[in-house]
Amino acid sequence: MEHKLSEDAILAARQRLDAVDTAVTRGLADARRMGEHVTCIAISKTHDAEHIQPLLAAGQRHFGENRVAEAAAKWPALRAEYPDITLHMVGQLQSNKAAEAVALFDVIHSLDRPSLLHALAKAMDAQGRRIPCFIQLNLEGAAQKGGCAPAALGGLIAAARAANVPVAGLMCVAPLGLEPAPWFALTAKLADDHGLTGLSMGMSGDFPTAVRIGATHIRVGSALFGERQR
Ligand SMILES: *Cc1c(COP(=O)(O)O)cnc(C)c1O
Repeated sequence: MEHKLSEDAILAARQRLDAVDTAVTRGLADARRMGEHVTCIAISKTHDAEHIQPLLAAGQRHFGENRVAEAAAKWPALRAEYPDITLHMVGQLQSNKAAEAVALFDVIHSLDRPSLLHALAKAMDAQGRRIPCFIQLNLEGAAQKGGCAPAALGGLIAAARAANVPVAGLMCVAPLGLEPAPWFALTAKLADDHGLTGLSMGMSGDFPTAVRIGATHIRVGSALFGERQR
């Protein structure tokens, strides 16, 4: 595979990574978060291996997908080539896909309900593997599919601890078309209230804002891959 990679594609990937990195560094400085690290997850959903390879060659190692089947089709071959990849699940997860997700991913960002927690715990027990999970918030009520309501957060965290499922922090997607800062601030406050330090928030359009408000993980798709075709 390697020999088909063009130098131009690698250079373009490096420039996109540098641009994100520069914005992150500026956001950290604005927030007086100097010396802190933000993990940039390249969201590769809909993009095939050919378009992922230049980012890998440019040094990117954290990637995210939103569908189990798509990830299963793409990532085992890429991991064989780059064993130090960390793969993140950022999409809604059905309980009947929990075992496959635990086998495939290193971090899950979409834990949002007790039934999924129990399916993940069972899969982790069976596979002898603990996967850190971010709890995805529902910030919009009925307008948003899935996500854990803020009022249900304490119960879900307690249930995760009881099931020995590591809770990495909170994850949110800011509502489309609204100023994202208040949603990020609410997510940061809820994490603080519950003693959680990880904050998975910020996408291509709003990650600098998220970093200023405390994001520890940003999920960047189109700014690294270009616009999605589907
Ligand atoms: C697609 C996706 C992203 C990345 O979106 P971009 O706007 O392309 O950066 C981030 N988080 C989740 C949950 C996604 O589904």
